[in-house]
Amino acid sequence: MYRMGKEEADAAARVIESGELFRVNHGAQETAHFELELAQKMGSKYALCVSEGTTALMSALAGLGVRPGDEVIVPTYTYIATASAVLAVGAIPILADIDDSLTLSPVAVERAITSRTRAILPVHMAGMPCDMDALSLLAKKHGLFLIEDACQAVGGSYKGRHLGTIGDAGAMSFNYFKIISAGEGGALLTSNEMVYKRASIYHDSGAAFWPYTEDRDVPFFVGCAARVSEITGAILRVQLTRLDGILKDLRRIRRQILDESRGLVPIRSNDIDGDCGINAAFRFETEEEARCFAKKAGGWLPIDSDRHIFYNWEPVMSHRGAFCDEMNPYLMSLNSASQPDYSRESFRSSLDLLARTVYISMNPNWSEAEVEQVIHRINA
Ligand SMILES: *Cc1c(COP(=O)(O)O)cnc(C)c1O
Repeated sequence: MYRMGKEEADAAARVIESGELFRVNHGAQETAHFELELAQKMGSKYALCVSEGTTALMSALAGLGVRPGDEVIVPTYTYIATASAVLAVGAIPILADIDDSLTLSPVAVERAITSRTRAILPVHMAGMPCDMDALSLLAKKHGLFLIEDACQAVGGSYKGRHLGTIGDAGAMSFNYFKIISAGEGGALLTSNEMVYKRASIYHDSGAAFWPYTEDRDVPFFVGCAARVSEITGAILRVQLTRLDGILKDLRRIRRQILDESRGLVPIRSNDIDGDCGINAAFRFETEEEARCFAKKAGGWLPIDSDRHIFYNWEPVMSHRGAFCDEMNPYLMSLNSASQPDYSRESFRSSLDLLARTVYISMNPNWSEAEVEQVIHRINA
């Protein structure tokens, strides 16, 4: 969350004063409007607002029919939610290395494909676009679904197309740490009507009772509970109007910092213009050099972000994929042919890249003087 203020407070107050807090009622329809506005802005046929990015990913996977017996390829560098969403639908997350862009390596993905692979799940980490051309080609060649985790990349793009709309489905997060936020929240994007219908059933297990489900021609099934309140919808409508301004300022400041920092090597980007500009990222020869620079310049190393490195996903690493053995995908007979490799030795290349990268985190609200200060620290 970068910007929030009176407009959001007023929007939430209007919902509370109207008494129409339930999205299914024919009241203010804030959430329904948000979904239309988001879909239109991103260039997707459908958007479904849900409770978190994780439930958006789960809805995408369930919408596409990913299930026990399937493997889904995820990167070594992402939040645990990417892997836990795969487990939530009974499938097995298979790790693949990142490349020097810090996003999923198409070469590593191709090596990880087996006869059980059903989907590739690239993550646009910290707003950095994945190599979607190469990944789309791979998905097509091997007949796999492509699901984008755009939770950290709302508003980013790759070759002019918004992240989250390039694959079969995409997931966004609006939790507290994301570019726009309602404290919690998420959205599924897809242009596939069947995926949208199945995802909307999945995200609202009780949906069979609501009037808006009357036109559903897909059989109902039990899913999860990820419906949002109208307060979330109302706040997100305001946040969406702030998105362009936030990205413009993040990108402007990052551009200035990259242009004016001397003697440093920025990491490779698959599309620097579409990158959200959350961090300026530099690559060093050694971890020692990276640490020395980070300390002096006020930066940090992605290898130190505990939540985002695969070996810190404790429940995944220890194969506890559910609350009981019977529902644990790692113990299901349908998954017995899958032997996922989660060892550190197999992913040295990812860990090496993350240990030699330094992020300087941007703030779109910095004044010109504050930006100058950051550049001064970097060059010192
Ligand atoms: C934030 C995030 C998610 C989802 O998080 P929620 O808290 O469920 O919204 C998923 N993937 C990545 C890469 C994230 O950063």
